[in-house]
Amino acid sequence: MSGTTLDDYTGRYASRVHGMAQSEIRALFSVASRPEVVSLAGGNPYTAALPMDDLGEMFTRLLAQSGPQALSYCPGQGSTALRETLCGVMELSGITASADDLVLTNGAQQGLDLLARTFLDPGDIVLAEGPTYVGALGVFQAAQADVRHLPMDRDGLVPEGLEEALAGLRREGREAKFLYTVPTYQNPAGVTLSEDRRERILEIAERHGLLIIEDDPYSMISFEGAPPAPLRARVDRGVIYLGTVSKIFAAGLRLGWVLAPPAVRDKLLLAVEASILCPSSLIQEATLRFFTEMEWRQQVKVFITLYRDRRDALMAALTDFMPEDTGWTHPGGGLFVWATLPEGLDSKAMLPRALQERVAYVPGTGFYADGNGRRQMRLNFSTQSADSIREGVRRLAGVVAGDIELRDTFAGGAA
Ligand code: PMP
Repeated sequence: MSGTTLDDYTGRYASRVHGMAQSEIRALFSVASRPEVVSLAGGNPYTAALPMDDLGEMFTRLLAQSGPQALSYCPGQGSTALRETLCGVMELSGITASADDLVLTNGAQQGLDLLARTFLDPGDIVLAEGPTYVGALGVFQAAQADVRHLPMDRDGLVPEGLEEALAGLRREGREAKFLYTVPTYQNPAGVTLSEDRRERILEIAERHGLLIIEDDPYSMISFEGAPPAPLRARVDRGVIYLGTVSKIFAAGLRLGWVLAPPAVRDKLLLAVEASILCPSSLIQEATLRFFTEMEWRQQVKVFITLYRDRRDALMAALTDFMPEDTGWTHPGGGLFVWATLPEGLDSKAMLPRALQERVAYVPGTGFYADGNGRRQMRLNFSTQSADSIREGVRRLAGVVAGDIELRDTFAGGAA
């Protein structure tokens, strides 16, 4: 230890934290949240649309009726009544499950972390869509996994791409630990795996013995009728399902769940107990009351109507303002659009200019483990009003046009 001081932490870190870095989204927060900036970079649901007075009354009743219990520890797996209620919620998407098979977590995010702890050793291969959810990348990177991206198009994950990746791994003598997928209204791409592809992906996974982790926070935030049923609704083995109340109730509650086969559930339960002893009793009780005492389906409709209008405003503004050769997805639900800039542009390099013009987005590279996504960006439509979204896109389009000019000047000068 000679030469080290107590201020010198880096030499003491566990090897697994060396790969941990701040996500591009976090790094953006401070600038993007300035009031003059139209932030299309966010990812928060619009909690101001919740009935605060009703919630206040609900919390008051909760404390009056079950205060001591709600302020105590509880079993690690969480309340049976809430797990049963969540089974009822999943049933609306066609998933049949028993409360015994659910483990409650601090959001789906903790579910992902517990799954990574359960399944991943350093160097293990995880397959994921390209792009994929940045929070999952953070978890997989912290577990020192080797994330391999699979191609995706407007109908979601491409089955041939999965088949090829599996064949490639077999040639290398390797196997993937699992496929992580967000099949419905994906974050960040806003695309949905088609009905037909769902069957094909399941067939390929079954044939190769590939475990699937299905992350499904958005399927109830559906703008044009119900999306195709989740993968877990089609099979009851081979798929571990992650759910959350973040998008249908409130993200700040941090309440999610994992639906897993009994053997995995037992491991997850031990991991929950080691990590947090038990999920918050207060939040479980409040969530139970949201589903049993409040008009929760009406509330989800309120969110849907609001986001649909904002999605429409974003689509219209992109069409009206964006320069030619810019592309974007048309999400049927969820919170995000994935835009592709014209050839030769770089969304990360462009960001300081966008912030100067008072508009923010998330550069695409944050959603890949391999440096891809330079021409892409994620745009959020849940947090800003339709007017702000339109103004934000107007500003953004000006920045893109400026970068096209720069590109052309540079190309002309170099020729
Ligand atoms: N998975 C995906 C795909 C997400 O977009 C999010 C939230 N942005 C999460 C998981 C985390 O959700 P929770 O709030 O339940 O932790």
